[in-house]
Amino acid sequence: MNIQLKTQNAAASRPLAGKVSLVTGSTSGIGLGIARALAQAGAAVVLNGLGVATEIARTREQLSAEFGVEVSYAAADMTSHQAIADMIAATVASHGRLDILVNNAGIQYVAPLEQFPVEKWDAILAINLSSAFHTTRLALPAMRQNKFGRIVNIASAHGLVGSPFKAAYVAAKHGIVGLTKVTALETAECGITCNAICPGYVYTPLVEAQIDSQAKAHGISREKVIHDVLLAQQPNKHFASVEELGALTVFLASEAAASITGIALPVDGGWTAH
Ligand code: NAD
Repeated sequence: MNIQLKTQNAAASRPLAGKVSLVTGSTSGIGLGIARALAQAGAAVVLNGLGVATEIARTREQLSAEFGVEVSYAAADMTSHQAIADMIAATVASHGRLDILVNNAGIQYVAPLEQFPVEKWDAILAINLSSAFHTTRLALPAMRQNKFGRIVNIASAHGLVGSPFKAAYVAAKHGIVGLTKVTALETAECGITCNAICPGYVYTPLVEAQIDSQAKAHGISREKVIHDVLLAQQPNKHFASVEELGALTVFLASEAAASITGIALPVDGGWTAH
């Protein structure tokens, strides 16, 4: 293989080389899958999320060794706008830039409206919606300065349609789809894009917790919960994978997606086609 071809292949396999990314809620599930895909594409990664310090340190070392990129960790609690401000400031100070912001941190709680605990409403709105407002407003100055930025908001099919018993989650996810549109409009002339990904069910610890609680609530087996409850609305009857979401995020962060902004893209096996 000649040198020019080798260089082209290296650039194609690491399209985000030199970029700096931050993924909120990336110690688990979808966020971790996205962090892995960004690292594989050559971007430095700042991880964030809750978890056991030794496990997070192991994840950092593994990603860094496997993909040869810098992987750091910011412990910011997404319910604290001050902690978020400190995290963004530290990222820009240590890397001199922030190119790719993935707002992914999220929690779920399921209860009828009249019994919905007020503190759960507040926590879901803070983590699933307000944290993205804070990271975005604080990351934009560095992106504007570089005339480049990619913001990917992990919304949900519940950002497009509702389901009973998920008042806070559905409200927050519809909210983040709205925030995505406003961010896209305000940054469209600056080389910055902002898009929402709207997954249906993806098999992660967040969903695993729902399988158990629904099995208990309905007195049915896990298999029945998966097929008849969770995937009831998902026509392909299949969980999406964190790898699919990672690959999509890398695409949205790439030059090839420069003209895609303000969208809410379902990855839901046909759920929202109903
Ligand atoms: P998960 O529970 O595996 O991961 C959630 C992440 O958020 C973890 O890293 C956790 O530590 C972090 N987090 C939670 N509270 C936090 C806080 N206060 N501060 C900082 N980090 C915090 O869940 P997941 O399934 O990977 O979900 C990730 C995102 O994808 C969420 O926004 C969720 O709503 C969305 N989503 C998930 C599915 C699904 O089926 N799993 C479907 C659609 C959308």
